[in-house]
Amino acid sequence: MSTTEPVRKPDPITPVLTRRWLSPRSWSIDTYEQLEGYTSLRTAFAAHPDQLIQLVKDSGLRGRGGAGFPTGMKWGFIPQDDGSGTGPGAKPKYLVINADEGEPGTCKDIPTMMADPHALIEGCIVTSYAIRANFCAIYVRGEALHCIRRLRAAVREAKAKGYLGRDILGSGFDLEIVVHAGAGAYICGEETALLDSLEGRRGQPRLKPPFPATAGLYACPTVVNNVETIASVPAIVNGGAAWFRSMGREKSPGPKIYSVSGHVERPGQYEAPLGITLRELLELAGGMKDGIPLKFWTPGGSSTPLFTAEHLDVPLDFEGAAEAGSMLGTTAVQVFNETVSVPWAVMKWTEFYKHESCGKCTPCREGTYWLVQVLQRMVRGEGTSTDIDTLVDVCDNILGRSFCALGDGATSPITSAVKYFRQEFLDLIADQPDVERPEQLAALT
Ligand code: NAD
Ligand code: SF4
Repeated sequence: MSTTEPVRKPDPITPVLTRRWLSPRSWSIDTYEQLEGYTSLRTAFAAHPDQLIQLVKDSGLRGRGGAGFPTGMKWGFIPQDDGSGTGPGAKPKYLVINADEGEPGTCKDIPTMMADPHALIEGCIVTSYAIRANFCAIYVRGEALHCIRRLRAAVREAKAKGYLGRDILGSGFDLEIVVHAGAGAYICGEETALLDSLEGRRGQPRLKPPFPATAGLYACPTVVNNVETIASVPAIVNGGAAWFRSMGREKSPGPKIYSVSGHVERPGQYEAPLGITLRELLELAGGMKDGIPLKFWTPGGSSTPLFTAEHLDVPLDFEGAAEAGSMLGTTAVQVFNETVSVPWAVMKWTEFYKHESCGKCTPCREGTYWLVQVLQRMVRGEGTSTDIDTLVDVCDNILGRSFCALGDGATSPITSAVKYFRQEFLDLIADQPDVERPEQLAALT
């Protein structure tokens, strides 16, 4: 697909994922039911589970946690043994919702859970029915206590109305949902570390394969999906695959929540069809704050390579971002103006990765430590002429050699920053004669 393919937008653009957010008491089951809530369940229960998996495959829904893996395909990996998934020897199946949102700049799942918790619960019911799971865990990051409370209250409401528990709406299908609090480790957003944590162990990534679809929670087949992914499912059941595909782009269809933060006039969550550009998002967000020009930005959190003002028209979908040299990631669009020092911002992100590295593998554990040492030295104005090469060399030894995506992600801001803003790093080298340190950095050190 070329980046020139026009983004198909419904006319007019109607919010799908955020449409209830501004309703009074949007989180209550009464409001939810008044606004078509739980209507997808009867349609879902009238269908065979395999038809629902096919529907989601046809819709083209891709994982909204960052990687963009096709959701229907992931559901289809769950082995169903004798076809019903309940035959002799069939293992239990589980649905686990990854609500451990922690990527810097990413803040779309918490508002979804706060404003519209029943959309997630309804999505969990449909998904569990499709994959033949009778138990679902929603793993929420521990710091988001307000979300945990809201979700638990919503689960109680849904149970009281007969949407959860035994024989839901007379369908013969049973489902329990448990809202589990994490303890604040970024690595527990990695799906296998999350599963370890859920099982009561220290959260560290497992070797993949086997993927969770074959050996997940308690070594049983498990679908792990992001909040936004599953909250999209009821709308797909109600609207159909063709309607969902009428938004976004051919290989990245549907609506998406973009979290726009930083130096814009109106930071916030903006729902738009996949493929919207930063230029269009900036219009929605009121433009650059105080008119100060854009310098750099992340398309999907700090694990995605940086973009610059040259990339204002890149379509922000999985293919468009990749073709332009980055990744869509979590659609956490962090916008920085000309007053920000790139090496300083990169240093702050790298300190985060060093702190959150779980320590399991050497390239990431040792590499992030040394990256921080070098970057801090440079930002203090004590860099040496070999420091840029050292940074790139350490990144080369982390990328592709780490056990999980955290290590790879830690290198993205550094290598892309050196690619686009090499001169700013050169300006920090102390043994380079006649170079003035930027005023802003002098003030920081
Ligand atoms: P991945 O590409 O390894 O996997 C994506 C999903 O597809 C997983 O659920 C995996 O189990 C499944 N999958 C992939 N290949 C499969 C196969 N052959 N068989 C069965 N299932 C398969 O990516 P990942 O390491 O899970 O996630 C990386 C992404 O996470 C990054 O792109 C980043 O944007 C994102 N991320 C998000 C946050 C957040 O806060 N939301 C934080 C950090 C990173
Ligand atoms: Fe742990 Fe980092 Fe290795 Fe991932 S890459 S397993 S976070 S040390």
